[in-house]
Amino acid sequence: SDIADGLSRGIEGIGASVSEALFEPVIRLGVTGLSRAGKTVFITSLVANLLDRGRMPGLTRGGDITAAFLQPQPDDTVARFAYEDHLAALTGPTPHWPEGTRTVSELRLSFRVQPSGLLGGLRGPRTIHLDIVDYPGEWLLDLGLMDKSYAQWSEGVLGRMSARPGGADYLALLAETDASAKLDEPTAKRLAEVFTTHLNAAREAGYSDCSPGRFLLPGDLAGSPVLTFAPLPKGEAPRGSLAREMERRYDAYKAQVVKPFFRDHFARIDRQIVLVDVLGAIHAGPAALEDLRQSMAGILQAFRPGTAGFLASLLGARRVEKILFAATKADHLHHMQHARLTAITGALLREAKDRADFAGAETLALSIAALRATTEEMVSHDGGELPAVRGRLMDGRNAALYPGDLPSDPAQLLAPARGGAQHWLDADFDIMAFAPAPITLRPGEGPPHIRLDKAAEFLIGDKL
Ligand code: GDP
Repeated sequence: SDIADGLSRGIEGIGASVSEALFEPVIRLGVTGLSRAGKTVFITSLVANLLDRGRMPGLTRGGDITAAFLQPQPDDTVARFAYEDHLAALTGPTPHWPEGTRTVSELRLSFRVQPSGLLGGLRGPRTIHLDIVDYPGEWLLDLGLMDKSYAQWSEGVLGRMSARPGGADYLALLAETDASAKLDEPTAKRLAEVFTTHLNAAREAGYSDCSPGRFLLPGDLAGSPVLTFAPLPKGEAPRGSLAREMERRYDAYKAQVVKPFFRDHFARIDRQIVLVDVLGAIHAGPAALEDLRQSMAGILQAFRPGTAGFLASLLGARRVEKILFAATKADHLHHMQHARLTAITGALLREAKDRADFAGAETLALSIAALRATTEEMVSHDGGELPAVRGRLMDGRNAALYPGDLPSDPAQLLAPARGGAQHWLDADFDIMAFAPAPITLRPGEGPPHIRLDKAAEFLIGDKL
């Protein structure tokens, strides 16, 4: 029986090592959001805090992690997320914000996890890989182009253009352009340039839907024909004309830029966090907020592919399992206002969220700050007290500021027809450009983030 025991132990041993090698689960976590939503800061802080889990009390399964380490990523042709550079920017002697996301990038963080529970001690530690995929939310908005013809797209874009910054310039240029004339490259280039300037100006003014996404973040496509097109009104488009070529380039953009992104990156994501600068949009005013709401609905369209169409055929039965909507930069508010921010985020995403729920994904809305740059303070004002936050501004001054009020009922913000079209966050919010705080938080001041651990718990806790 000794021999039999030894034999069965040996077989068990072989079994464990084989299954270990074959079965190391991989979670692909997508991180997206429009430009400046906070993706780069979020990923850097998430990784730093997962590597040092003492600061993540809300990640309840975190105690089972015996080690966390960075490893080479699985995709050799995708840029690596520059974690070390970004961390150095945030935590160096003169902390500053890193450069934001401009393209898709990836980072693999691996965990050794000791299973807990009754049988936990009997099972050996497991390895789990977290592949973090960072990509611009603008690229998701391009999904809206896939089922639009050039004429339909042009009509929509030209329709909303006059109300937006830089739109009048483009319309003026159009008025003096004969689109049915023979293609002339300088004319095409000029139209694309003025159109891009308009998109950038609209983005600057707080508008969210400034697609096509690559016009704002061209990467190595800058100057190529797929980015040298612009919308034109319906009209004659004879062979060889400017109009005909613009249409062809629009179609090439869809086929050669949008489609490969969805196929190579989006289709492989298991869990997703969508970061949203809700505070910034509220501050920018009702038009920007309404545009953000519509953009979110557009973005979330990607998570409800339906049963027909380009994305459905690409995804097959595969679906994103969990989607977290996180309002970022919550450290601009005293925590007394966090519940309101979360409620507004939930309401803002209601339409989009219902669609995602429909696809069977579990969703949650949270208010977070990946990197807390402020501490809380009550300041006296007109005989009362205001909930303020204190931090170091970019110009070096240290100040306690009050951003202004958020409404208790999200409808006051999101239903302009019912009297919501007024301005909120119009006290000190404008000057609240905080520098990242050096990590010197004293005991009692809490962790260097807000609810980053809750975000991690929702996104990956069940897999640890
Ligand atoms: P990305 O374009 O989505 O990658 O955005 P970034 O991560 O570069 O963030 C854009 C800017 O938002 C940063 O430069 C910071 O000014 C600000 N920011 C991002 N996260 C936080 C945060 O947690 N707290 C504060 N106070 N500011 C943040």
